Amino acid sequence: MASLSDSVGSLSGVGPKRVQALKDLAIENVNDLLTYFPFRYEDLQAKDPAELTDQAKVALKGTVAAEPVLTRFGRKKNRLNFRLLLDDHTIIPVTFFNQPWLRDQIEAGKSLVVYGRFDAKRQSMAGMKLLTSANGAMGSIYPANKEIRQATIKKLVTQAYEAYESVIVDLIPEAIRAQYRLLHRKQMIHDMHFPADATAAQAARRTAKFEEFFLFELRLQIVKRQDHTLRGQALPYDLAELKRFIASLPYELTAAQKKVVNEICYDLKRPLHMNRLLQGDVGSGKTVVAAIGMYAAITAGTQAVLMAPTEILAEQHANNLAKLFADFPVNVALLTGATKPAARKVLLPQIANGEVNLVVGTHALIQPEVHYHHLGLAVIDEQHRFGVNQRQALRQKGAQPDILAMTATPIPRTLAITAYGEMDVSVINELPAGRQPIRTVWIRSNQEASMLREVKAELAAGSQAYVVTPLIEESEAVDMKNAEAIYQRFQAQFEPQYRVGLLHGRMKNDEKNAIMDAFKANEFQVLVATTVIEVGVDVPNATLMMIYDADHFGLAQLHQLRGRVGRGKKASTCILIADPKNQLAIERMTTMTSTTDGFVLSQKDLELRGPGDVLGRKQSGVPEFKVGDPVADLNILSVAQQAAKSVVDQDDWANQDANLPVAAYLTTTAHQTTTMD
Ligand code: ADP
Ligand code: MG
Repeated sequence: MASLSDSVGSLSGVGPKRVQALKDLAIENVNDLLTYFPFRYEDLQAKDPAELTDQAKVALKGTVAAEPVLTRFGRKKNRLNFRLLLDDHTIIPVTFFNQPWLRDQIEAGKSLVVYGRFDAKRQSMAGMKLLTSANGAMGSIYPANKEIRQATIKKLVTQAYEAYESVIVDLIPEAIRAQYRLLHRKQMIHDMHFPADATAAQAARRTAKFEEFFLFELRLQIVKRQDHTLRGQALPYDLAELKRFIASLPYELTAAQKKVVNEICYDLKRPLHMNRLLQGDVGSGKTVVAAIGMYAAITAGTQAVLMAPTEILAEQHANNLAKLFADFPVNVALLTGATKPAARKVLLPQIANGEVNLVVGTHALIQPEVHYHHLGLAVIDEQHRFGVNQRQALRQKGAQPDILAMTATPIPRTLAITAYGEMDVSVINELPAGRQPIRTVWIRSNQEASMLREVKAELAAGSQAYVVTPLIEESEAVDMKNAEAIYQRFQAQFEPQYRVGLLHGRMKNDEKNAIMDAFKANEFQVLVATTVIEVGVDVPNATLMMIYDADHFGLAQLHQLRGRVGRGKKASTCILIADPKNQLAIERMTTMTSTTDGFVLSQKDLELRGPGDVLGRKQSGVPEFKVGDPVADLNILSVAQQAAKSVVDQDDWANQDANLPVAAYLTTTAHQTTTMD
């Protein structure tokens, strides 16, 4: 029986070569072809010639005034001329070049719609297409390429629709279709390709988007549920011991931190797999929450790891955690690419036999040679800095540890639903008490001198300052040169009264760490740095930050950088130095000065620069959709998500009558299942 999963090769006129060419357009079966939608339409509706502008592509409706005349010139060239009598009695000469076969369709007295380019001076038309009412008045335009042309796609789609029309069934369950006033699938597919008018095309597109998002969300929900049940391990932690640790902290947890700790502990104890995303703005105190979770795993007799994106950050975490756990039975070890072979040789067996129960490090933690005794919880700090594969590798260590992924880049809802839809989300939505808001100002580079006076006044009051140097391109060598030039200028300006340090990505780790330690100990008052200080660095006495060429950074990144100040009791200032050249960059600067709300900023970033930049270039994880745009169509996306949840939440959902077609569809298209970590 004919089925939409039939290969496109089963259509007539599609041989192996064309199968391959279609495959390049991701069209393998009939369903792929039928959902290969036009990206726009030419409006072929007949127009009034009085309104026409010269060279406009238009459709004119009229009657053929006299038999057409075909003139051949040269071997292959020819011209077909006839006169079209419009309803208002004007006569328009029409010429079709090299389409001799059209002569059979044109006869005197016949009513026609001709689509073509209108010449206003001559009041004539160069014909492009002949339309009959069957074509509809909207010309579909498909993405095509050299191998497969527009006309071919159109022909194949028409052919496929005619042959398979009768087996197109609704995938969206009837109740949902009715609730959201969606079209039947057959109608939707018809109207996407052959709409009668713009309104029909629009309605079809709305349903097409919904269907696409709905199917995507269904797959996601199914994966999420399987993930929960299939890979779980229960970690029966020692609650009394955990309370003792929390009581030992030098501060009271914020209400938001407590809530998140409870969510994590609840997940750890259940025999289900945890896959949780912890969002919290810079400085909201995610690390201590992770520490509590890791200690819980340790009291349950397992190990914990914390993976950070940079060596500086990993080392800082290792130091902080060693201090926090000084009086507790926790053996903290640091494992990074910089760990010396001799130390590594000692460390690996200790990790393998469980002697070390808390391992902090970089992606060195996921190398194949690193074996864990019993990994209970894996924490990923600044997780958006890692590629999907690295996150996946960490998950596959040992017996599928529970995962806590932390991010300071607030994730706009679009991305929370798509890129992270399979994760549970916890949010720390308040900062520890007593934090001062960061004042942000934007100046032009010609105001630098007065800025430096302000900096000196701050330093005189005992504060420290970061100076972030321009990010010209993604090249460490160029960044370093800039950093060195600014470093020398600042030395000339500030030394010997204040000491100036330099930090850049090309330095050896020992050097970097020495500089960071010295800055922390206030041996330097000014630290000139590239974006290596972007994440995690914590020096509460630093209350001033200057960012050169700030317009070269994205909002999320500026927000991260700015988060290095405002970490102590003193009020902090962030100065953006930028001479933006275009409107978008100006908008970014004014947005930075007007809000410190990370959510507002990342939503703005998403709108201005797209998801890749918000989540980091490595791998945005945002799937590609054919018709839906997860940013622009957020409303449809979230409604479709709700609908998908409501389906999967039903008992034995895949065997309910209303869901049978979609369940079958998901099974036959299992190869498309979005693999995400
Ligand atoms: P982030 O969420 O940016 O990773 P951190 O975990 O680095 O934040 O915490 C920022 C600073 O706030 C650290 O110095 C930490 O010790 C401190 N901190 C965390 N929680 C609290 C709290 N509840 N009260 C006061 N200070 C806190
Ligand atoms: Mg952090």
